Amino acid sequence: MNYLWNVLIVIGGFVMMEATAWFTHKYIMHGFMWRWHKSHHEPRVGRFEKNDLFGICFAVVSASLIITGSLESPFDWRFYLGFGILLYGVAYFLVHDVFVHQRLPWLKHTNTTYFKAMRFAHKVHHKVNVKDGAEAFGFLFVSKKYLDKYRQNKKA
Ligand SMILES: [Zn+2]
Ligand SMILES: [Zn+2]
Repeated sequence: MNYLWNVLIVIGGFVMMEATAWFTHKYIMHGFMWRWHKSHHEPRVGRFEKNDLFGICFAVVSASLIITGSLESPFDWRFYLGFGILLYGVAYFLVHDVFVHQRLPWLKHTNTTYFKAMRFAHKVHHKVNVKDGAEAFGFLFVSKKYLDKYRQNKKA
């Protein structure tokens, strides 16, 4: 039973992070923290961008939970929640930074409609390179709206 709970906490942490990423992107990054996020809407100079600091913030939260949770025996919920956040961070990095933005030369091609629609939705987000007026703030979860838009776009 405990085992099942732990798995649910990991999954819960992962899903919660997509909602958190959406909220943070829409209201904080394109809000009062635009000064960090702006760098992600401009051509990158060098290997890193100021926007990467957001990733570090989430990594600190995840690491703190993993460390404090693993001091208990057996590991408590904090460990599993932190682990869910870590998995989301890895998925986000691979899909957003590698697949979509090609910061590393991997995962260039896919035949999966879902991933293509995800990339399309994120490109829609990047069409607006100022603080206000952007759309499509989510990431791993692609809403029906963008799946449909992607399909129409492909036909056109
Ligand atoms: Zn943005
Ligand atoms: Zn992006």
